[in-house]
Amino acid sequence: MSKVQNITVLGATGTIGANTLDVIARHPGRFRAYALTAHSKVEPLLRQCQQFHPRYAVMLDPDAAERLEHGLRSLELDTEVLCGIEAMEFVSSLEEVDAVMAAIVGAAGLKPALAAANAGKKVLLANKETLVMSGALFMQAVRQGGATLLPIDSEHNAIFQCMPPNFSQGLGPAGITKILLTASGGPFRKFTLDQLAHVTPAQALNHPNWVMGPKITIDSATLMNKGLEVIEAHWLFDAAPDQIEVVIHPQSVIHSMVQYNDGSVLAELGNPDMRTPIAHALGCPERIESGVAPLDIFAIGQLNFERPDTGRFPCLRLAFEALDEGGTAPAVLNAANEIAVQAFLAGNITFMDIPRMIETTLSEVGTAAVSGLDDVVNADAQARAVASDWLERKVTC
Ligand code: NAD
Ligand code: MG
Repeated sequence: MSKVQNITVLGATGTIGANTLDVIARHPGRFRAYALTAHSKVEPLLRQCQQFHPRYAVMLDPDAAERLEHGLRSLELDTEVLCGIEAMEFVSSLEEVDAVMAAIVGAAGLKPALAAANAGKKVLLANKETLVMSGALFMQAVRQGGATLLPIDSEHNAIFQCMPPNFSQGLGPAGITKILLTASGGPFRKFTLDQLAHVTPAQALNHPNWVMGPKITIDSATLMNKGLEVIEAHWLFDAAPDQIEVVIHPQSVIHSMVQYNDGSVLAELGNPDMRTPIAHALGCPERIESGVAPLDIFAIGQLNFERPDTGRFPCLRLAFEALDEGGTAPAVLNAANEIAVQAFLAGNITFMDIPRMIETTLSEVGTAAVSGLDDVVNADAQARAVASDWLERKVTC
């Protein structure tokens, strides 16, 4: 077997980060967790350092970094501690790093993911917000940096597995007519508008099929997650909006499908466990064991499909509109959504206020062309300011 691959795991303490380390631990002769990063929770990162002995551990927060340093020294571990987003960019572009798992949540993940792409790494992209905010710039960085981009989002990983090798030359020439992007429908799939008006954060955090971090779990309940994934699919596969169809599939067994002009539809199936796409991307082009239980199709029995209802779930419509609008609109959508999700989780707005806040922000901020990263960063900041204003007015009235 070839040499051990050094892996940087951005967002190591999150759901995707922990699943990545679970797969890495199953293949000690193949992978080494070389650098681990986290926001501010010291204990989980310290435990991961104890188990994996990374060369670097990075915290966003300087106080947390100091506490981590103290903990590591008292355990006599020699992992070097760094702090700040620049340090996350540094461990994503180190010469000796082979692959970077980009699993920070939200817009915060953009710069380290871009650093990995610019440095020509194998980029395992979980942080879909990177592509939503700056798809054109990110794909350009992948091409110019000579990086290999592998999708971790289960739907996009499934689509990637169902694509022919020449898909980058265009979907049409490859004989592809449509991407069928599956969605579980979330915990409120059958709720009426009246019921949706009263749902609580605890209900929204209770996803029927997947165990995920809080932000993506709320996004799944509003269908914004599917909206972000439509934009993600547009950039990853160079698919026009009308070549992407969202299909509600409550069992989450088919992770997505690709339809061909000869009538074939290829699907990837499996248990809903993120270790499958993670192992696929880590091992690619080889297949490696992931720890996921074999799929029992007899126990599942049936697979169902429904059309999405954008009347009850307007976030999906807003995402399609932002994709059509182009420029900075998807970055504005993403930033407003992040503020709205935080406000909903904090109990400051209702579930149906989430699309209201995003729609108001999109119309107040407007759209500009993207010619560089500054345009994206400015649109993100402007959207956060407008959405926060909206929130303040809402809370005080
Ligand atoms: P999570 O909330 O469980 O973990 C987030 C990680 O990012 C943590 O390690 C946290 O410390 C770190 N982090 C948070 N804010 C940060 C900041 N400002 N700067 C640096 N680090 C920060 O999230 P998750 O569910 O693991 O999701 C991570 C990403 O993967 C998201 O973009 C999500 O959309 C995507 N994704 C997740 C799943 C899933 O099953 N969880 C599936 C598909 C895609
Ligand atoms: Mg997904």
